[in-house]
Amino acid sequence: MATPVPDPVASSIGAGTARVRFGQTGSMDGIEVVVFDWYATLGAPNDEDFWPRIPELIERAGGVVDAGAVREWESEHPALHEEQSASEATYRQWQRDRLEHLLLRCGLGEPGRGGLLDHIDDQRYSRSFAVFDGVPDVLRELRRRDLRLGVCSNWDWGLDRHLQANGIAELLDFVVCSAEVGRRKPHPTIFELVLGHAGVDPDRILFVGDNWTEDVGGATAAGMRTIHVATATSCAMAGDHSSVPCIAELAELLTVVGPVRA
Ligand SMILES: [Mg+2]
Repeated sequence: MATPVPDPVASSIGAGTARVRFGQTGSMDGIEVVVFDWYATLGAPNDEDFWPRIPELIERAGGVVDAGAVREWESEHPALHEEQSASEATYRQWQRDRLEHLLLRCGLGEPGRGGLLDHIDDQRYSRSFAVFDGVPDVLRELRRRDLRLGVCSNWDWGLDRHLQANGIAELLDFVVCSAEVGRRKPHPTIFELVLGHAGVDPDRILFVGDNWTEDVGGATAAGMRTIHVATATSCAMAGDHSSVPCIAELAELLTVVGPVRA
């Protein structure tokens, strides 16, 4: 299920303040490629999005919310789904099937079930997200410093639509979208794709993301250096940042990631 899966750790604690703590990690010298997560890292959450309103939508359609089923639908997404990602049509049908399974568990019968499935499918592929303030300028400045840039996101088919709409697609050297590659963070094989695009050793790659497990955990396991970004929410990991810096705004990257040094 491509899309914003709330970080369960970050959303459950909600305390702490993001602080740059680069002194604990050594310098960021030698970085040649910076890879960003999309949602809540570059793209700002949208209050009108259907995702956080799923329980409300189920109730309005006549269902009874099963919190455990919602949680499973959100967080127990298979990490490998190459067969389902064979085409946009097969992927979207899989998304619909997974959602229908949730609606059935919430006791939602027809015609409410089919109507809600159609509504969410339409919303999912027509919704829009703005990037956080200043994101295009940060990306341009990083490119000016001769860094190559990429995006790796757990997202629906067609992530490029959002990147184009925000005018940042042309600033990126590569995009790895889970729906289209059939694998999902934090599975190691999606980071192998990132490494292939980057074409450098993993310790020359800086991965920047808001999700502690998918972004920081997955990229760290792949040998990349990482920065946790907490723009949309306060950083819940403030007490456990001994090895990973945390920033509140992407512009803080410009203080630590510079031109590659020989
Ligand atoms: Mg994210």
